[in-house]
Amino acid sequence: METSDQLDWKHLGFSYIKTDYRYISVWKNGSWDDGVMTEDNYLRISEASTALHYGQECFEGLKAYRAKDGSINLFRPDRNAKRMQDSCRKLLMPEFPVERFIDACKKVVKANERFLPPYGTGGTLYLRPYMIGVGHNLGVKPAPEFIFGLFCSPVGAYFKDGLAPCNFCIADYDRAAPLGTGSQKVGGNYAASLLPHKLAADAGFADCIYLDPATHTKIEEVGAANFFGITKDNEFVTPKSPSILPSVTKYSLMEIAEKRFGMKVSERDVYIDRIDEFTEAGACGTAAVITPIGGISYKGKLHVFYSETEVGPVIRKLYDTLVGIQFGEIEPPQGWIFKVE
Ligand SMILES: *Cc1c(COP(=O)(O)O)cnc(C)c1O
Repeated sequence: METSDQLDWKHLGFSYIKTDYRYISVWKNGSWDDGVMTEDNYLRISEASTALHYGQECFEGLKAYRAKDGSINLFRPDRNAKRMQDSCRKLLMPEFPVERFIDACKKVVKANERFLPPYGTGGTLYLRPYMIGVGHNLGVKPAPEFIFGLFCSPVGAYFKDGLAPCNFCIADYDRAAPLGTGSQKVGGNYAASLLPHKLAADAGFADCIYLDPATHTKIEEVGAANFFGITKDNEFVTPKSPSILPSVTKYSLMEIAEKRFGMKVSERDVYIDRIDEFTEAGACGTAAVITPIGGISYKGKLHVFYSETEVGPVIRKLYDTLVGIQFGEIEPPQGWIFKVE
């Protein structure tokens, strides 16, 4: 299929571009309907929808890649489908079946194939599945009806000039509570992160780092990405906490570090006043893949890891391997790549 000729593939950012089709399924009277593909990019919902008032909504984010051999890859969509089911259980929303989630991803990519950036441009087609509570409702209780939707938008390579490190500061706020919804991809967490992000950006940082909400001594999240560090002994370390969002990218990097590079990997406490145990640090997630952390500003001092301007060698090879797998340049571990046919 021909690609969209109005788009400048090499200079795409991360913003909404309306594509041709999106998928919608409605849950009513206890079950999901068959779902449809539609050209309409607006929803018409009750003004009394729980998603609007009580934050009964969750979402996901994953990408489709034009592979080196011309085929289309999805990266571990089953993980996103299961994570969304976990979010749904936490917010008393009906689970959307894993098989149907994956099928919706494939349908949306196929129907919008002309928006899939060509191989070699670094661009991808970002997929945004979401679920919202809708229907007439006033009191604080679960919605009578739900919508599962999935749309896509072409996005550019996060870093146009390779892996550029960024500096971060420590947030003065929490994004989640210890026994709250930090480990689910639900809207409320992100509403709570907008102000801390703005304050960090206004102070010249890429984003803020959240410490554990109970003691404020341990690193939890880097904005909307997971934290990892590489120790002097070449160990891959990432924080363990019930209020961290389990990143598919992070668990994939851990497996690559362990299986391909023979590194020791561990999930454990990462104390902010002991960050000098790391020679390299990074933030990871679907959107940015890996953002190398140049430095962290804490108590008025900037702690620099590998370099403020250059990516370290371990993060470089982890990044190259992950992206190589996603774009079909490197043999993937069993079950990581789903083909869109
Ligand atoms: C989505 C998200 C991540 C990254 O998860 P991926 O599955 O790697 O995209 C990390 N932290 C937060 C808070 C997130 O919302």
